[in-house]
Amino acid sequence: MTQEKWGLLCQKLLKTVGQNNFTTWIEPLEFQALEDGVAVFTVPTNFMGNYVSQNFSDLILYELNNAGEPARRLAFRVAANLPARPAQTAKPAAIPAAASEMSPRRFAEISEPLDGLQAAPLDPRFTFDSFVVGKPNELAHAAARRVSEGGPVTFNPLVLYGGVGLGKTHLMHAIAWELKAKCPELNVLYLSAEQFMYRFVQALRERRMMDFKHLFRSVDVLMVDDVQFIAGKDSTQEEFFHTFNALVDQNKQIIISADRAPGEIKDLEDRVKSRLQCGLVVDLHPTDYELRLGILQTKVQMYRTTYPDLVIADGVLEFLAHRISTNVRVLEGALTRLFAFASLVGREIDMELTQDCLADVLRASERKITVEEIQRKVSDYYNIRLSDIIGPKRLRSYARPRQVAMYLCKQLTSRSLPEIGRRFGGRDHTTVMYGVKRIEELKLTDGQIAEDVEMLRRALEA
Ligand code: ADP
Ligand code: MG
Repeated sequence: MTQEKWGLLCQKLLKTVGQNNFTTWIEPLEFQALEDGVAVFTVPTNFMGNYVSQNFSDLILYELNNAGEPARRLAFRVAANLPARPAQTAKPAAIPAAASEMSPRRFAEISEPLDGLQAAPLDPRFTFDSFVVGKPNELAHAAARRVSEGGPVTFNPLVLYGGVGLGKTHLMHAIAWELKAKCPELNVLYLSAEQFMYRFVQALRERRMMDFKHLFRSVDVLMVDDVQFIAGKDSTQEEFFHTFNALVDQNKQIIISADRAPGEIKDLEDRVKSRLQCGLVVDLHPTDYELRLGILQTKVQMYRTTYPDLVIADGVLEFLAHRISTNVRVLEGALTRLFAFASLVGREIDMELTQDCLADVLRASERKITVEEIQRKVSDYYNIRLSDIIGPKRLRSYARPRQVAMYLCKQLTSRSLPEIGRRFGGRDHTTVMYGVKRIEELKLTDGQIAEDVEMLRRALEA
């Protein structure tokens, strides 16, 4: 496709999206190439690329195909030669100007509220009652309880972070429910960082930043879920930062969740990071066996109200708690499937049915043992330093444990001999092969070695 043709297409896009949208979003796109069904554009910022891709890609694809250009997908590259900064600062700078252009009268004419500035819907299942507390989440739970009392703000913000499916959203909703019940006069706003961005962009587009700022600064409790989403989205981060500061200044509670510690979120501005770190930062650890079992038992109790004659054989829940990964969502999914399956076929839930019904889940969550883990366990077991297992020393007291570790790596991981060698201080694969052989022989003749290997294997597979 030629630049001219893109120019013509732009005329059509202008008609559909209107002058404002066109100037803000479409005009800055620079058409680069159309290859293998992918139309590539350069954009001034990532933020723009994301926004256009979310909001206008169907339309652009439609127009491209209509014009006989077979495009399946759009790709946006941030123009490397364009200085990114000026482009980004240019936009926020334009807003105050736009806002100040609004006379009070014009402001009043816009009577329709900003679309969807109500809070995101809360899941009725996500309450404190249904949240099972265990060692891995007790701190996060206690902190969530504290802010849900709605008393004086003691830590601001509260940041809950942890991996996928560990209960961050559940706790956030639980806080919101509790606050709504206990302090109905408080204006509690829960939303995801993504929704924050869309509302911000919508306000920009409709030139209603004053409304946006006013509304966000009038909440009493602001809860933003999955804040890592705004990383790399510069104007959104900036707006978030200002909203955040305005609320903290007014001593309003802010609650944030993220999938990792604030300091570890890539492309999050330092000033945002340090703001987040000012409050109380607590993490949800991966679940342990006891917590998983507790959650399963609670869920079974809940299912009992729907399926009163549900029968679960002894050991099934323990098996699941043992075998299924740390992610609670996966655990719940497995249980739901199990119940559905059992009630369909009208059978008791026993080990056999469980294994059949959940074969894929069980396979997927088989624990992957790493070389590092093996090296660590082995060095602990023989009471030597990790560096001695990996390092060059040839002393017997290091060489034997090293061979045991190599043997276990061969047995318990899918690493090849050269790969294993590399992780043992860059040793040759023949050295690893020799080590593995040696242990295989010793296992037959030396009871102690056989026992060591067995103990270690069990510890690693636990
Ligand atoms: P995250 O937001 O951390 O990815 P969610 O809060 O969405 O995780 O939790 C995933 C699922 O697991 C939800 O259905 C939630 O109710 C459930 N869940 C997580 N932790 C617990 C817990 N401690 N007790 C009960 N249910 C939990
Ligand atoms: Mg979540």
